[in-house]
Amino acid sequence: MTDSITRLDATALAEAGRTLEGGTPLDILRWASNMFAPRLTFATGFGAEGCVLLDLIGRHDLDVDIFTLDTGLLFPETYELWRRLEDKYDFTIRSVSPELSIEQQAATHGPELWEREPDRCCDMRKVTPLTAQLAGFDAWITAIRRDQTDSRAGALAVEWDPKFALGKVNPLVRWTKRDVWAHLLKHDVPYNPLHDRGYPSVGCLPCTSMVNAGEHDRAGRWRGALKTECGLHTQADGADEFGNTSSPA
Ligand code: SF4
Repeated sequence: MTDSITRLDATALAEAGRTLEGGTPLDILRWASNMFAPRLTFATGFGAEGCVLLDLIGRHDLDVDIFTLDTGLLFPETYELWRRLEDKYDFTIRSVSPELSIEQQAATHGPELWEREPDRCCDMRKVTPLTAQLAGFDAWITAIRRDQTDSRAGALAVEWDPKFALGKVNPLVRWTKRDVWAHLLKHDVPYNPLHDRGYPSVGCLPCTSMVNAGEHDRAGRWRGALKTECGLHTQADGADEFGNTSSPA
């Protein structure tokens, strides 16, 4: 299968996904690295699931490009986690920035655009930079899990991504939130301390608030706005583009 698959063949990717169905996340990552590197990337948002994947990539020295979308508005705890992960695993997580700084955006579109037009803000600070980055790769790794949302219930370990037109690798597709946290604790993986303080899903600082008992993990994102995701999905499904939704079990 590995020799005959066409990189951008959706049918072949789906077949690979079915073959890898019983594989561990490490099996799937190794397969993807063998298949796609150096044109394989992981866009991490530093969620709990993302930290699991960074741990596997780092400890097993897998050939994967890694980047994050630095909107310029991340929590100090997220920036600190970024550095802790780089130090622990001795890899570089590339910073991908929007075209406009916060100051330039304010000058051009008015201050605190996220308060007035969050979709436009997300488009400029997340969607456009991500789209440009992915255009340079044959496949990207995401942290999505089947149990996150109904629309992800049919996700495969490997599949075609019609939105960005490249392969999509989902190593954690069969895992649960409990699996994610068991891995983080077992392997002493750095994670965002905000998860322990009522923030199960952490995005940009102005658009993230604490979650109350009984609320969905994503309830603290864009609270009060008719918005639940960054606009990167084919289907709005309540998890972000990186599949980050977890909090400690
Ligand atoms: S999450 Fe908020 S601040 Fe960040 S890009 Fe989207 S609207 Fe802007």
